[in-house]
Amino acid sequence: MTIERIFENNEKWIAGKLAGNENYFRDLAKGQQPEFLYIGCSDSRVTAEDLMGVQPGEVFVHRNIANLVNSVDLNVMSVLNYAVRYLKVKHVVLCGHYNCWGVKAAM
Ligand SMILES: [Zn+2]
Repeated sequence: MTIERIFENNEKWIAGKLAGNENYFRDLAKGQQPEFLYIGCSDSRVTAEDLMGVQPGEVFVHRNIANLVNSVDLNVMSVLNYAVRYLKVKHVVLCGHYNCWGVKAAM
C-alpha cells in the first residue's frame, strides 16, 4: 500500500458514498447521537465498525494501544466524559482482543 493509493481509495470512497446518496456527507454533518462508546485497541487488524457491524454515526470510538482506560490519561477521560455527558451514550464497550502486542509489551 502506498500513500498515493490511500488518496485514490479515499476519492473512490467519496464517489461511492455520493453515488449512493448525494446528501451522504450533508446528512452526517447534521450531528451524531450514538448509543455506544467503544474503547478498543489501536491494532491495525481490528476496527470497531467491522466488529460491531455499525454505520457511521452509530458508535463513538476511542482507540489506544491495548485499549487502556487510565484515570490519568486525559485523552481517554475526555472521550469518556464527552460520550457520557454530552452524547449521552447508553453503553460503554471496552473491547480487548487475543494476541494484543500492547498488552504483551506492558507485561
Ligand atoms: Zn491490541
